[in-house]
Amino acid sequence: MNGPDYAYGDLPAPGTWREIQPGLRWLSMPLPFPPDHINVWLVDDGEAGTAIVDTGLARDDTKAHWLAALGEETVSRVVCTHFHPDHMGLAHWLCERFGVELWTTLGEYYTARAIHAQGSAADIAHKVAFYRANGIGEDGIGAFATPENLYRRGVPDLPAHYRRIHADTPLSLGDDDWRILVGRGHCPEHACLHSPTRRVVIGGDILLPRITPNIGVWPAEPMANPLADYLACLDGFAHLPADTLILPAHGFPYRGVHARIAAIRAHHEERLEILVKAAGERAAGLSAADCFKLLFRREIGPHNVGLATGEALAHLHLLESRGQLVRRNVDGVWRFGRA
Ligand SMILES: [Zn+2]
Repeated sequence: MNGPDYAYGDLPAPGTWREIQPGLRWLSMPLPFPPDHINVWLVDDGEAGTAIVDTGLARDDTKAHWLAALGEETVSRVVCTHFHPDHMGLAHWLCERFGVELWTTLGEYYTARAIHAQGSAADIAHKVAFYRANGIGEDGIGAFATPENLYRRGVPDLPAHYRRIHADTPLSLGDDDWRILVGRGHCPEHACLHSPTRRVVIGGDILLPRITPNIGVWPAEPMANPLADYLACLDGFAHLPADTLILPAHGFPYRGVHARIAAIRAHHEERLEILVKAAGERAAGLSAADCFKLLFRREIGPHNVGLATGEALAHLHLLESRGQLVRRNVDGVWRFGRA
């Protein structure tokens, strides 16, 4: 399959922006982990000034890049596609600094608030039990037995209030009405911004050109089926004109959304097949932890065991919902075998 048709071949230098179209500019903020940068956007908001779309992590270097890039510009609002730290990390700081409001979906705002508040003894006990029940051994479980709330590292504060954006109502920025296309599975209610007149989608993490977004099951909803949600939400992008320019949160802007959606679907189906085959070869079935070697080339350690468990479970739960695997509890561990 052909790769995406990139419209640009390099990222803007931190603290600078590149014009994509009149009134639409691209910035890139560094991240201290892969994929090493996040793309954020400046959209003309008419007399009100400039709207910021996504923020980068709450770090001093990101703040300095924002100030350098914005200069004397008036900021009109901060729009966040979703609650993840690289997208919402500086929403509080930017909103305070410019005296503006955060605009995001209800699902993302309240998920951010909920995750920011996690860390009670009951939360930790449940988290440990969840990973243990999914096959994480005693050597790996310690990573979850800590009260540290990692979300707060990238998102120390959140705005105390927000303005809701919604799939039913376009978001008017300047002269443009941006439609909200909702992405799911990666997070509950991810806002992708589509301007039919500009033929552009600010796609956040839903339509990345090279990598697939993390789709995971998390302790707060242990029976979730996020991969079904994600694959279903891709239908919402099928109507886009073929020449639509996708502005992704990571990687370069590209055209060819339909081929990209087909490649993402094929990638997940291939992994699902690997798991069905492996489940058939093992009498005991597969726990989430058993899937790591089948799904990931990278080494799974304390820093990524939560992500890996979540992704493995997302695939197992989709297969269960399709009737291809059945769940059994064997000595306190969920194992998925052939139906
Ligand atoms: Zn994300």
